[in-house]
Amino acid sequence: MKTTEEEKLPPCSLCEDVLKDPVSTSCGQWFCRQCIISSWNIKELLDEHQTSERRRCENVTERSDETQRGPPLKKIYTELYITEGLREEVQTQHEIWQMETISKINYLQNLPIKCQEIFKVLTDQHGSIRVVLTIGVAGVGKTFLVQKFTLDWAEGLENQDISAVIPLSFREMNLIRDEQHSLLTLIQVFYPTFQKITAEQLSVCKLLFIFDGLDESRLSLDFNRSQVVSDVTQKSSINVLLTNLIQGHLLPSALVWITSRPAAANQIPPSCVSRVTEVRGFTDSQKEECFRRRFNDEDVSSKIISHIKASKSLFLMCEVPIFCWITAVVLEHMMTTEQKGELPTTMTDMYSHFLMVQTKRKKHKYQQEHEENLQELTEKGNIMFYQEDLEQCGLDVREVSMYSGVCTEIFKRECGIFPKPVYCFVHLSVQEFLAAVYMIHCYSNKKIEVVENFLKNQTNISSLVELLSKIMKKSLQSQTGHMDLFVRFLHGLSLKSNHRILGNLLGRSENNSETFKRIINNLKEMKTNDMSPDRSINIFHCLVEMKDLSVHQEIQEFLKSENRSEKELSEIHCSALAYMLQMSEEVLEELYLDQYKTSREGRWRLIPAVRNCRSQRKLTILCLYFCNYSYELSEIDCEAVAFALKSNPSHLTELDLNGTILQDSAVKTLCAGLKGQHCKLETLRLRSCSLSEKSFTDLVSALKSNPSHLTELVLDGNNLQDSGVLHLCGFLESPDCRLQTLRSDKFYLLPCCFYFGKLRNIYFSREQSILLRYCRMSDVSGGHLGSTFGSNPSHVTELNLGANNLEDSGVKQLCGFLKNPGCRLKTLGLEKCCLSRISCEVLASALKSNPSHLTELDLSENKLQDLGVKHLCGFLGRPDCKVQTLRLKKCSLTKASCDALVSALKSNPSHLTELDLSGNDPNGLDVQQLQDLVASPDYKLSTVRPEVMGSPGRQVKLPCV
Ligand SMILES: [Zn+2]
Repeated sequence: MKTTEEEKLPPCSLCEDVLKDPVSTSCGQWFCRQCIISSWNIKELLDEHQTSERRRCENVTERSDETQRGPPLKKIYTELYITEGLREEVQTQHEIWQMETISKINYLQNLPIKCQEIFKVLTDQHGSIRVVLTIGVAGVGKTFLVQKFTLDWAEGLENQDISAVIPLSFREMNLIRDEQHSLLTLIQVFYPTFQKITAEQLSVCKLLFIFDGLDESRLSLDFNRSQVVSDVTQKSSINVLLTNLIQGHLLPSALVWITSRPAAANQIPPSCVSRVTEVRGFTDSQKEECFRRRFNDEDVSSKIISHIKASKSLFLMCEVPIFCWITAVVLEHMMTTEQKGELPTTMTDMYSHFLMVQTKRKKHKYQQEHEENLQELTEKGNIMFYQEDLEQCGLDVREVSMYSGVCTEIFKRECGIFPKPVYCFVHLSVQEFLAAVYMIHCYSNKKIEVVENFLKNQTNISSLVELLSKIMKKSLQSQTGHMDLFVRFLHGLSLKSNHRILGNLLGRSENNSETFKRIINNLKEMKTNDMSPDRSINIFHCLVEMKDLSVHQEIQEFLKSENRSEKELSEIHCSALAYMLQMSEEVLEELYLDQYKTSREGRWRLIPAVRNCRSQRKLTILCLYFCNYSYELSEIDCEAVAFALKSNPSHLTELDLNGTILQDSAVKTLCAGLKGQHCKLETLRLRSCSLSEKSFTDLVSALKSNPSHLTELVLDGNNLQDSGVLHLCGFLESPDCRLQTLRSDKFYLLPCCFYFGKLRNIYFSREQSILLRYCRMSDVSGGHLGSTFGSNPSHVTELNLGANNLEDSGVKQLCGFLKNPGCRLKTLGLEKCCLSRISCEVLASALKSNPSHLTELDLSENKLQDLGVKHLCGFLGRPDCKVQTLRLKKCSLTKASCDALVSALKSNPSHLTELDLSGNDPNGLDVQQLQDLVASPDYKLSTVRPEVMGSPGRQVKLPCV
């Protein structure tokens, strides 16, 4: 398309050749971009900008001491794993938690993309990529990525079609958020080189704006009500300029790259974004490479790598590059100085050492006071701080600068163009660690109001045991797990060894061995009731932070043992097992939760193990069957299951969720998995899952969209309604449907299974009955049943539609099926179906045309009245009628019915053996004449209800041989 357009354009007015990268100017002429840039003498300016960007990006400024340049970016830069598109995980989880549990991501699932190619159109994509949104958790390396991209460009290596890369971090733009600017002056504020450029000159340049750190934005981007600005010289507020640039009103040819943490990314409407990428941190080999690049000494780096690998939680955390850095700082310090003692093995150890390493660099006499103040800052919940924030917390700015000398790397001083410093923690985990230190500090120093304020309404905390227990309980209630790390650190800090490292920062310690034992016991026995099982796993992590490995060892023994199903597992065992299965390298082929001997809560806590099937794990059977317990599977639990279904390749072939309660939102999540193109599920069991009508509709649509694998579907015990029946029929009608078995061990069988004969052999060779009692069906369903059976009638031998609102119209529609010569129905149950005499009339007429199969008919509890029975007797009296059992309980019958029945029996005496008329007014009926027939050897009739007192009737009649 582009080529034809270009062909129509005149040649370049400057080089008079075919246009390359054409741009037009206000005079209406067309030029190659390079030609016009050269002729307007802006090339020099752009080169100058490129050179200064190169200088800015060459070195890493991780130690924010401005006088000292960090190592070259190229030396330490390790490729990050970037993918196009998002993994479909809930983004509500705490970021650290996300990082950890998702560490076993399937690297094949999304397409990896190279940093330099972030704006390149892939072969199978159309159109151009104008706005890219890159997300990633805090510390994952987004800013490094931007820096590397800019450096590659500035060095003339990549993306040379871009005239100028203009990085504008939200941190810096926050500082001028109240000022009015045009886009031109905004650029000039940050890049004085551009002072000399005009609006017209700017518009012929191909610009790339990089807005780094949307999560740190204090601008309010309003894409709905923002005024339209299309002139680069028009003044407006910064947020309006940004929204216009992103929407393409302003400089439509400019590229825009926004980076953000996941939670803040939704500020940009998806319609504005042409590509979403995600930075996923380091893969295992990238982690090692990162350490090797950092240390010149092969020996040191190998030692560090093997130490990290030995501690699973540390190794996992190293997926976040910043944690690699923290680890490197700590271990480097310990290995190169005369540090005695153990290397850190837990997160708390690592952060304690990190804090110590930082504070030792420059001792300051006010150190402790400052740290306390800073800890107050951590409580504020911000992730970035400006001078005024610090002042609000009682910190003198001059002292902060000294402080930032004390703890330089904890607080990173951002030095942009502005003299105004910005402070932030290098990583959220550092903030959480300091918050934990602060909490213990306040407790030890009797700053009870801080503790009580935190726990809200909880007073009289009498011991450390109680404090930890109360905070743990509070954290378990969180949906997002935002306190998980904080709580882990708190428990880790109760260790004597960490008190030693941190010295008087934690205050007077209370941790005698008795206290320690009680804390551990509390954790092991903590009840979480129906909290998310993911939260319960954090209890296990707390034990690990306290270096209590007993549970860990017990589970390892359990996994090795032969008779697993006999060993009793406690709740904490289950959480540990779930975590270990989730992280296990072992192939887990089946998971039957009901095979573990544990309590109700224990079984519940095992659910996260499902996540094991992420990555290449071969989980083929997943059974979350809860026996007699009704557990509600949350959306997050279903997310785990859905993930197993969506993975590529997905090995899960059997999913049993019988007996769990599934709310609509949970079913919706599950359906996303069923729809997945890699889903190969063959068996789906959803017995008694309390599926709502909406859920059932969602479920069937999901099955319809991916019909070719499922062969067995169990849906009984759910409140199936008309729309459900219709939907399911639609699914069965689909030509790709491979369903063979649609079943129930109980009663609620579905009718549509007869549709294309797909199901009949398998299902009907087992059970030949259709029981749809109490399914809230109406005449609509009846009609559908009729046509369904009609298309393949010979396999239904029993049909019980009792207690549905079929009404006469429903029965009328069913009659098509009954009349069908192929119909072999033996039992028909229509009790309590709101029928009148009309039903009897149509039934009788239908049955007359195909009389020889029906042996049992139940029409009880319908208002048939005598007239109805009279119609029915027209059929019953025929010698070819083979009905043996007839139930007409509570049908508002009187003597006239009895008369009609007697007369019918007289003409067809040898079939009917049982007749039930109970529940009709005994005074109005004349049962005696029927009882007389029982007594007579000429009649097969053996039982008539109600019995008349003193009747001599034979109760047992031996069959004639
Ligand atoms: Zn040209």
